[in-house]
Amino acid sequence: MPGFELFDHVERNQLRDVMDTGILMRYGFNSLRKGHWKAKEMEAAIVRTVGVRHALLLSSGTAALTTALAALGVGAGDEVILPPFTFVASFESILATGAVPVMTDIDETLCLDPQAVRRAITPRTKVVMPVHMCGAMAQVDELQAICRTHGLFLLEDACQAFGASFHGKMLGSIGDAGCYSFDFNKIVTCGEGGAVVTNDMALYERADRYHDHGHDHSNDDRGAEGHPFIGYNYRISELHAAIGCGQIGKLEQFVAIHRKNKQTLKEAIAGVPAVTFRRLPDPAGDSATFLTFFMPTEADARRTTTALKAAGIDGVFHWYDNNWHYIRKWEHLKTRAFAHPLYKSLRDAMPDYATVEFPQSDAIISRTISIAIKMGWTEEEVQARAALIKRTIDSSTAQ
Ligand SMILES: *Cc1c(COP(=O)(O)O)cnc(C)c1O
Repeated sequence: MPGFELFDHVERNQLRDVMDTGILMRYGFNSLRKGHWKAKEMEAAIVRTVGVRHALLLSSGTAALTTALAALGVGAGDEVILPPFTFVASFESILATGAVPVMTDIDETLCLDPQAVRRAITPRTKVVMPVHMCGAMAQVDELQAICRTHGLFLLEDACQAFGASFHGKMLGSIGDAGCYSFDFNKIVTCGEGGAVVTNDMALYERADRYHDHGHDHSNDDRGAEGHPFIGYNYRISELHAAIGCGQIGKLEQFVAIHRKNKQTLKEAIAGVPAVTFRRLPDPAGDSATFLTFFMPTEADARRTTTALKAAGIDGVFHWYDNNWHYIRKWEHLKTRAFAHPLYKSLRDAMPDYATVEFPQSDAIISRTISIAIKMGWTEEEVQARAALIKRTIDSSTAQ
């Protein structure tokens, strides 16, 4: 899955451009940089690839989510609806703005259940943040309709879904804003990096300012620029952006390889009676970075996961037992283990996640297994792996 699997001379040449001038910062130093603007170049590539008006490249996906929320004006007193199956960064970014993360059940798409979202809306709700998990899509059309009805922002956490689409629209480009991650494990990587995309010029401008200490980027002289509001530093370096410039040109190829390899594995286990697949609202838009399926029971899922690992299959995830992607193991959230005291408004308004239960999500995630798709496999390796996965699931469910 990770884009680093196929690093080659393209990324190396991009990096050399930057080191030839030594200008590692994305702003300023105009006369010394010999025309190299790697962050700007990658932003232009994101705009073309995703089909949006504006893209801001920054230091991580977490920074992108935080910046997008800040630019949407989300803060103290506001509630943001998100799923309990995601990476911790989704709720971290909400907490960073002082807003309240309101976790809401998923369905068999492994993303937000629109019915559950409707039930979770209160007068304080400001944003619905679906997370397009494991390379594929939430029911983003229905979620968008809910947001329009209730006057809410739709912010897509597409950090795991760069290159995936829903009925021809790239994930991340559909909501008021979308966020991507280009960290080391994502399909396109900068080493570390992320992006906010939007069609809203004013929103882009606020994000652009927020992520660079409030700089209004109005001037060639940074010292003379205005600071319309207080920001932070979530800038990306030219070194990271250069890697991304090399990677993003390969996205189409990356997705094609994933789809081909996933198809082989999926066909191999499609006939196994114990296996059913994750529901994909638009199967054609899947970026195919994971093959995700359900076992009949939690015990089956655990036994099969153990068997697959013992058989030497790497990249197998039983998310129910994973410390980072499902609320069951988020003790730090449940016990409110913060590094610093919380704002009073947040302390008072936060749901008590030690007692809130998610029976609908539990019933799905406890039975869910994902297998990461790699790009580096040879055709023989994919075939052998497919056969081994099928045999292993067959025998682990035979008793
Ligand atoms: C990776 C990821 C993030 C955060 O991205 P970083 O670049 O690692 O900060 C946020 N949300 C989801 C769903 C992710 O998978």
